[in-house]
Amino acid sequence: MSSSVSEDRNVFQKIISHAKEYGFVFPSSEIYDGLAAVYDYGEYGVELKNNIKQLWWKTMTQLNDNIVGIDAAIFMHPLTWKASGHVDGFSDPMIDNKDSQKRYRVDHLIEARADELTLAGKNGDAERLLERMNKYLAKEEFGKLKDLMDAEKIVCQVSKTANWTDIRQFNLMFSTEVGAVAEDASKIYLRPETAQGIFVNFLNVQKSGRMKIPFGIAQIGKAFRNEIVARQFIFRMREFEQMEMQFFVRPGTEMEWYNKWKQTRLQWHKALGLPSDKLKFHDHEKLAHYANAAVDIEYEFPFGFKEIEGIHSRTDFDLKNHQQLSGKKQQYFDAELNQNYIPYVVETSVGADRAFLAVMCNAYQEETVTQTSKTEDGTEKNETKTRIFLQLHPCIAPIKVAVFPLVKKDGLPEKAKEIIELLKYDFNVVYEERDSVGKRYTRQDLIGTPFCVTVDYESLTDNMVTVRFRDTTEQKRIAIKELHSLVANEVSFKRIFEKI
Ligand code: ATP
Repeated sequence: MSSSVSEDRNVFQKIISHAKEYGFVFPSSEIYDGLAAVYDYGEYGVELKNNIKQLWWKTMTQLNDNIVGIDAAIFMHPLTWKASGHVDGFSDPMIDNKDSQKRYRVDHLIEARADELTLAGKNGDAERLLERMNKYLAKEEFGKLKDLMDAEKIVCQVSKTANWTDIRQFNLMFSTEVGAVAEDASKIYLRPETAQGIFVNFLNVQKSGRMKIPFGIAQIGKAFRNEIVARQFIFRMREFEQMEMQFFVRPGTEMEWYNKWKQTRLQWHKALGLPSDKLKFHDHEKLAHYANAAVDIEYEFPFGFKEIEGIHSRTDFDLKNHQQLSGKKQQYFDAELNQNYIPYVVETSVGADRAFLAVMCNAYQEETVTQTSKTEDGTEKNETKTRIFLQLHPCIAPIKVAVFPLVKKDGLPEKAKEIIELLKYDFNVVYEERDSVGKRYTRQDLIGTPFCVTVDYESLTDNMVTVRFRDTTEQKRIAIKELHSLVANEVSFKRIFEKI
């Protein structure tokens, strides 16, 4: 294994530990040893995630005069999932190892083998392997996929044997029952995507909002998938959150809009602070049952380039099927063309949790700092320390400003609390008086607070404070009355919008 891969794994482990230790993400029901692929957001995590969601919401709805938002229920009529194709087609090819009883996604096993080949310098073999896998997956040729696994001698990580079952499709939807009496109860599903809540409300919104094509409907909400392979922390969860937008267009214009949304969405991730060289497009080779074009935006996580957002040209697949199954027309009257039609749809779908993870991975910084100090006999001593900080864009940082009195007496806490009062209605701020100022800086660095404000004795007379900037650790003396505008300017979403 190359050192860079093990270093990256190491970094990822550090990020996971950091997320837990500093209140970003906890394993669900941890006191019972957790629940696989389910996580809870802690006190700073929820702030960061809410900021990311709010930024998406504002970008998609309030910055576009032809996109509005909704909030549909998680439970939907079961026919919804028949129409969408999820009852019959939302499955992954799975295989079980007979010795360990472990179940795997076949594409994950083959991809892992391809990674091994790449690491061994056999890039050509890896590419050919993935090419064949994609071909067989696209045609659902499971016999040939199994032969491919045999030829590559792929074994189970646990039992180390190749004693596999046949490959089978496994539906990813969770089901439950509604109704008080068992006999009357009917099976319903936890939605595996938020998109269908938008489709079934297409005409409601079009009419109530008097929307004219092209227009979009956006939604943020929970989605549930019984993911078999639970790995990579919050990258693949069984309960997660999606931020989806369906853009309804005239048939025939969908590719134009698809290309536009591709670029706009890539730009959003860059504006959030993800660097260009860590983002790329990945065109789908195997198109989903509903799409005539599809691309992923991938981010380079410490475990490789992986999808954070999907952009799909979904044709009229969903609305047409809902029209057929519900018997209700899902048409739009285009006054310019004097024509009725079922609109085509371009979808942008990003996982709030994956965006969160990309942001955390990108923000985590370790910096070596050398400090010179004098020993008792007057000789100088150099000490190297590691400074860990989260370089989050100030717009999404959980806490914007931390205010410290230099000491806990002589009116300094009161002065610091006046500053809190000045800022707290517009920004998330904290007051902190425990430990040394240096330790308080460290604590704020670890959660990514962009500004620390220290009130000292001089502040009582000159009404100035020391502002310390997270990324540079630079300190500046500024007037208390200028604090609000300094922070407002740095944390305003406008700074991000200007780049989109
Ligand atoms: P994958 O191939 O990784 O399973 P997908 O192609 O099935 O993802 P989509 O159905 O396109 O994903 O969903 C849109 C977005 O929802 C994804 O880009 C991702 O950010 C998010 N998402 C999907 N599944 C999960 C999951 N299990 N956990 C967290 N986020 C998810």
